[in-house]
Amino acid sequence: MSHAELAQRHRRVMPAWLDLYYDEPIELVRGAGRRVTDGEGREYLDFFGGLLATMVGHDVAEVTEAIQAQAGRLLHSSTLYLIRSQVELAERIARLSGIENAKVFFANSGTEAVETALLLATQRRRSHQVLALRGSYHGRSFGTVAATGIRGWSATALSPLAVTYVHSGYRYRSPFGNLDDAGFIAACAEELRTIIETSTAGDVACLLAEPVQGAGGFAVPPDGFFPAMKEVLDDYGILLVSDEVQSGWGRTGRSFFAMNGTGATPDAITFAKGLGNGVAIGGVVAPAELMDCLGAHSISTAGGNPLATTAGVATLDYLLSHDLQANADLVGKRLFAGLRDIADGCPLVGEVRGMGLMIGVELVVPGTRDPAVTATSRVLEAAREHGLLIGRGGLLGNVLRVTPPMTVTAAEADEALAVLRAVLTEVSI
Ligand code: PMP
Repeated sequence: MSHAELAQRHRRVMPAWLDLYYDEPIELVRGAGRRVTDGEGREYLDFFGGLLATMVGHDVAEVTEAIQAQAGRLLHSSTLYLIRSQVELAERIARLSGIENAKVFFANSGTEAVETALLLATQRRRSHQVLALRGSYHGRSFGTVAATGIRGWSATALSPLAVTYVHSGYRYRSPFGNLDDAGFIAACAEELRTIIETSTAGDVACLLAEPVQGAGGFAVPPDGFFPAMKEVLDDYGILLVSDEVQSGWGRTGRSFFAMNGTGATPDAITFAKGLGNGVAIGGVVAPAELMDCLGAHSISTAGGNPLATTAGVATLDYLLSHDLQANADLVGKRLFAGLRDIADGCPLVGEVRGMGLMIGVELVVPGTRDPAVTATSRVLEAAREHGLLIGRGGLLGNVLRVTPPMTVTAAEADEALAVLRAVLTEVSI
């Protein structure tokens, strides 16, 4: 069956809001390293990693074999029984989180992870009022969708969660005018304080924040932003929840969890995506005092199941033993410099930004800051035609997202840069 027929069936039976990339959607059927092959035999360089979930590359023997061996022994038992790989993985994540006396809860997705963190924070502070950053993305459940600060994604007005948005540190479209870093940070902290004082009932549970916004288009706030925000939060006893579903595992090149690298200590960290290298897993790490505040009895049927946590242990082993954080830093800098160089000769590029292997390229109508949304679609299409898969995002849908698996090599980065140079110069508005 052709991709066109499959796409037709997809449209008939799947929700209209479940987006597919490309005018002619593709089905990926095989992968090795950073290469994937579609059902019609075309090969692509994968610089989106299945929405950043393919962390160490496709079909890595150490991960695949661990999953296969576990699948042959036992697929499932539930949280009612001991699961060795679950305990091991929790201990490792607790250590790597930098949180003292940490405990870990495993869920099946990023959405569930953030939902759980919201549950903990709202329960702990006895308040359903939370703060979130403009341009944030946190998931598709009742709570996380309400905390998502991108119009079009935050679909429901009926959530029981009361959410107020504050500035994310995204400077390219800052409402604060042309300030230096210190002035900008002070303005954001002041806005946060004013919002807490005037736009909430005064009993805010937490600020939910991505240290580097993913779907929002890889906005990286200036150094000092999160410590300044945290100082304000501390004045009111408000918890800082760092959503590291995209930015965790050393992908930013700076620290294992990105918030730790900012100098602000989070009260809880949510994670998902890369940990299973594609096998569904998510979770929260938080101090025992916060984690245990729910008090109620609970289970999670498949949360932390043997298959997912075995995949997690094997992926983490691979990540750490190959020092992929250092690779993310090294190759990320090469990609960043290459994209900056392309941008110099390409008026379509408004800004290149990011950190490590989270790089965004914001496309604008030349000479303005108006979003070049159609051109963004064209670049995505043209890159695919040249054999390169990348993502898109941004508040206005005009940001290219370049996020290869953390095993990406310098040669592959150069190959992707050559494609991007070609398509960015040939595509018109
Ligand atoms: N938080 C962030 C920062 C995300 O990027 C995402 C997914 N893009 C989620 C939460 C939700 O994760 P999932 O799609 O696994 O539910």
